[in-house]
Amino acid sequence: MITLGLETSCDETAVGIVDDGRRILANRVASQVAEHEPYGGVVPEIAARAHLDRLDNLVKLALVDAGLGFEKISGIAATSGPGLIGGVMVGSMTGKAIAAVRNLPFIAVNHLEAHALTARLTDDVAFPYLLLLVSGGHCQLLVVCDVGDYRVLGTTIDDAVGECFDKGAKLLGLGYPGGPLIEQMAAKGNAKAFELPQPLTDRPGCDFSFSGLKTALRMLVTQQKQEQPNPSFVPDAAASLQFTIAEILVNRTRNALKQLALENATMTTLVAAGGVAANQAIRENLQKLAAEYHVTFVAPPPELCTDNGAMVAWAGLERLRRGMIDTLDAAARPRWPLDENVKKASG
Ligand code: AMP
Ligand code: MG
Repeated sequence: MITLGLETSCDETAVGIVDDGRRILANRVASQVAEHEPYGGVVPEIAARAHLDRLDNLVKLALVDAGLGFEKISGIAATSGPGLIGGVMVGSMTGKAIAAVRNLPFIAVNHLEAHALTARLTDDVAFPYLLLLVSGGHCQLLVVCDVGDYRVLGTTIDDAVGECFDKGAKLLGLGYPGGPLIEQMAAKGNAKAFELPQPLTDRPGCDFSFSGLKTALRMLVTQQKQEQPNPSFVPDAAASLQFTIAEILVNRTRNALKQLALENATMTTLVAAGGVAANQAIRENLQKLAAEYHVTFVAPPPELCTDNGAMVAWAGLERLRRGMIDTLDAAARPRWPLDENVKKASG
């Protein structure tokens, strides 16, 4: 079984092809960083037009990379939400058109499910597992029980963690996208230089909050502007921000592991996914936490943490082999929670 996956929900246009032997046969990503950079963030209209410009050619290139024609493809998967609706419509419509013309099954993939299942493509992780999903638009702790079966333990009550990196980078004048720039700058700074707040970490449960941290950083930057120029300010602030974010993520994930231990849940793996999981400092901290709780830590390689087509193709394959296919009137959805049919877990 071989699936082709289209990803267009934010600012990467991506096409991947995977097979049921967990091989990635193609993984083409065309980033739109250059288009959005002058605006310091993603402009939805520009993103949608760029997806439209690039997607068909990227499909062609991916097929060439894989050395395959459409006759070898078993199903077409496309991110159908959540995301910026213009881009989601471009990907979903392209996927449906290919499926219709080639008479192939169409799979409407939830972008969050694609991140959630990537660890099964890369490391063959068995269900159930604890997932920390950390990206530009999301920050959640979930139990991945099965394909399409998720239990949310905690979520952000304000900003996503990637947003905190991106806005932090903007405040520090580092540009866009913020996460990788903060990580590079942090390597030159002192993580203990500034003590920043860690919202909610003194409370039980697994919810996250980042808006207070962002405000504290803004105040720090304002204060610095009134003082003598300090060449180590930006690296020190970047290192302190990254350190604080890692502490928050570890604190909340520890609570999730504790809660699952109290429930006697058989959870042997902690998985991190989404763009922020590309951050080495965060990975190292989660690795230590996992060792403390005697669970295996898995994080996909950085290029499979950020948005890509292989993860969409893989989520499509997981669904296709269970017979979970969609009709060609499947909606494009700006919002699409993973646990929409499940009650939020207590605690
Ligand atoms: P996604 O929403 O999954 O595409 O992830 C994009 C988000 O991940 C953006 O907010 C990026 O700033 C963030 N990101 C990407 N790489 C890193 C990194 N190395 N460290 C921290 N955040 C990152
Ligand atoms: Mg994403």
